Amino acid sequence: MEFHVLTIFPQLIMQAVDYSILGRAMKQGIVRVFAHDIRDFTHDRHRTTDDEPFGGGAGMVMKVEPVVQCLEYAVSKYGPGRVIVMSAAGRLFKQAVARELASCCDRLYLIAGHYEGIDERVTEHFADLELSIGDYVLSGGEYPALVVIDAVARLLPDVLGNRGSLAQESHEHGLLEYPQYTRPRDFRGIGVPQVLLSGNHAAIRKFQMEAALQKTRRNRPDLLGEVNGGQNDED
Ligand code: SAH
Repeated sequence: MEFHVLTIFPQLIMQAVDYSILGRAMKQGIVRVFAHDIRDFTHDRHRTTDDEPFGGGAGMVMKVEPVVQCLEYAVSKYGPGRVIVMSAAGRLFKQAVARELASCCDRLYLIAGHYEGIDERVTEHFADLELSIGDYVLSGGEYPALVVIDAVARLLPDVLGNRGSLAQESHEHGLLEYPQYTRPRDFRGIGVPQVLLSGNHAAIRKFQMEAALQKTRRNRPDLLGEVNGGQNDED
């Protein structure tokens, strides 16, 4: 699967993707990541990518032409794909969205904004989707794009060594994952739940279910509405 990030900081993307599971998936050829420099599609001496907002207001807005020309260049070179604008005002990126993107598309174009955001005409006329990674405002769309790439890539077949680890994870079944422990059994007098050492698989499973429920109740009570047959809020 290909991920193309349109950005004014291409190095930020390329330096970040070389590690861990994503880095390995790239070496194996399962995932390819490209960063396209929006500045290459400016035509003035200062390579300007932003301008003052119509109607006034604070800050600067990313100009439509360099972004769209960058997108058109990438699409003409690599082929069509799902176009996503990273935006604090976007639809919330959730595990369900990651799953959908992992199965729907072979190529994603992720547009990273800066300043006060991107001229809305990009979103309205040239993008399929506007995605937010959470209810906070960052200074740029590069980290959000990397979040989407990481979350989607690890769902692709053969990216994770152990497929079983996917099914058990937080947000796969509307519950958070149960707490996990590894050696040593005793760390400064702090033990691990005895049942995990018992070898009794039914008891272990029961413990894990209860612990997952307890953790979800404590950290994310809002998720329990979904588990109990309530609205499955995928937006
Ligand atoms: N003025 C905008 C925020 C601009 S932040 C607003 O109020 O909505 C600058 C850029 O950072 C955005 O264009 C977007 O690409 C990125 N960004 C910031 N927060 C984000 C978030 N939560 N999710 C996705 N992208 C985000």
